[in-house]
Amino acid sequence: MMQLFMPLNFLGFVYREMKGSMANVERMFDLLRRTPAIKDAPDAPAVVISRGEIEFREVGFGYGPDRPILDRVSFSVRPRQKVAVVGASGAGKSTLVKLLFRFYEVDEGAVLIDGQDIRTVTQDSLRRAIGIVPQDTVLFNASIYDNIRYGRIDAGEEEVQEAIRLAHLDDFIARLPDGHNTLVGERGLKLSGGEKQRVAIARTILKRPPILVFDEATSSLDSRSEQSILQAIREVSRGQTSLVIAHRLSTVVDADHILVMDHGRIVEQGSHHELLAAHGRYARLWQLQLREQDEEQPA
Ligand code: ATP
Repeated sequence: MMQLFMPLNFLGFVYREMKGSMANVERMFDLLRRTPAIKDAPDAPAVVISRGEIEFREVGFGYGPDRPILDRVSFSVRPRQKVAVVGASGAGKSTLVKLLFRFYEVDEGAVLIDGQDIRTVTQDSLRRAIGIVPQDTVLFNASIYDNIRYGRIDAGEEEVQEAIRLAHLDDFIARLPDGHNTLVGERGLKLSGGEKQRVAIARTILKRPPILVFDEATSSLDSRSEQSILQAIREVSRGQTSLVIAHRLSTVVDADHILVMDHGRIVEQGSHHELLAAHGRYARLWQLQLREQDEEQPA
């Protein structure tokens, strides 16, 4: 009995650890396959993506019964729109993403994709329809080329090279000792946060999912890396429905719509200019970040 209990207990621990962090979302997929906490409805069909629209309808959610985290959250990301979510740490931004992937069930309301309640479709089809660029990408002990091709294992060399170019990794790879055959990961070359994020973007370009989630890294980047990541995001999100969990102003400005969250509620929404003109919470966040930027980069 003990022998059985130990690994289950350990798995439970790993599961909780990983659920806590979007950074490990890729590993979480593997893990969830082995520990299906949420079951598909019998005979559940695959999700059908026609337009690529996301809707949160009056969503209420808590990780436990005593502490509500989201309170009647409603918003839509229309086909091919880019929606950014901003708000203080702990506001509930990453929780939206976990619910979209159905890592947890909503307590109230519903999450819909193209009008289909995500509880009624298979989890596998749901997760195949959504691509994520996580905060911290897992790199395998393999060449950088294979790490990128992981986005779509059957991609041909030309497609991989195109993804490398669009993700602004070509200059970086050209300077590596063995070019794209250079080994990366724990036992190979360590990549910076910005470089890893560009690998994730290249993978997503190969995958070309109809819906894209971008969980922006909180770590600060130098302005060159930031610019090149921004351009790469534009490439990958062009013509696709995208939801961006944003930590930097630069990512937010060109979003079609911005949701401002506070303590699990959407307290403001609109375009960058509308929100600045409203002189509310967003305008204050913006001023605060501008001041922080000025302090980091004195003239
Ligand atoms: P940040 O900007 O710091 O990433 P966030 O806005 O993404 O924050 P969430 O990660 O969604 O915030 O967290 C919202 C609340 O839910 C926080 O109070 C957090 O402590 C809590 N929370 C997050 N994950 C879990 C979990 N696995 N179990 C219990 N509580 C959690």
